[in-house]
Amino acid sequence: MTDILHRLIADDGKFFGLACTTTDLVGEACRKHDVGPTAAAALGRALTGAALLAALLKDGQYVQLKFEGSGPLGKIITEAGYDGWTRGYVANPRADVPLKAGKIDVASGLGRAGFLTVTKDIGVKSKYQGMTQLYTSEIGEDIAYYLLESEQTPSVVALGVHLQPDGTISAAGGFLIQALPPVDDGLITGLEERIRQLPPFSEQLRSGKSPADILAELFAGIPHHPTASTGLYYQCSCSREKMRSAVFSLGNDELRYLLEQEDGGAEVQCEFCRDSYRFSREDLEKLLSLSERKQ
Ligand code: ZN
Repeated sequence: MTDILHRLIADDGKFFGLACTTTDLVGEACRKHDVGPTAAAALGRALTGAALLAALLKDGQYVQLKFEGSGPLGKIITEAGYDGWTRGYVANPRADVPLKAGKIDVASGLGRAGFLTVTKDIGVKSKYQGMTQLYTSEIGEDIAYYLLESEQTPSVVALGVHLQPDGTISAAGGFLIQALPPVDDGLITGLEERIRQLPPFSEQLRSGKSPADILAELFAGIPHHPTASTGLYYQCSCSREKMRSAVFSLGNDELRYLLEQEDGGAEVQCEFCRDSYRFSREDLEKLLSLSERKQ
């Protein structure tokens, strides 16, 4: 595991920044889901965005981002925990759109019209949910727009994924900068101006800079200091037990239907990691009798 998230804060406490590399975890996600180039870039950005938002939470909490656009990629769901785990998938991982000015066109892949729903699991069975329309469908700007509109937190979010010609991930990462209350809007505007003068984020990654280097450059001239850092990794939380409850929740009719099929068993695949769980005829019969007894 080499992916890492760095945090730094301005000495005057007016704003803070997060920067992360996600090359390995995005590469792993892309292999698991056998994605095409458009899905690789979109999923990579969405996973990186989730990792950044999770870093704003507390220990044990996690966040889910759901992008639902009108484009061929379909729904993109990513989740990340404060502890550093991430997982995610794209509904149509092989869907592709033509390059735009020689670059992968994430916005057309996701589609211009649609919604971003952010769900935060903040423990003790309480969830916080917010939804905004997609802003540019480039993922990073949609997250910044969500933070501003739904959480009234002015933020700068930049996400980048760079692919080799053979489709493997050569660099991925991102940063997020937020002003702390009382918010000085001028600070964010100044930073945005500085970012506009720099080459695009994925180009900077490609030139060998790490997201932490890029963030340090943005904070140049602003007294700041690092705080904690967190290792990031791809990890799914699925288990045979969880899948068994999912099969159980299908209900009597569906379980009877599965038992009537030729092999009488069921194979369930996890959407997030594509691991398969096999339930035999005996397993399903047990679940059905449990389910019947409940009624
Ligand atoms: Zn899984």
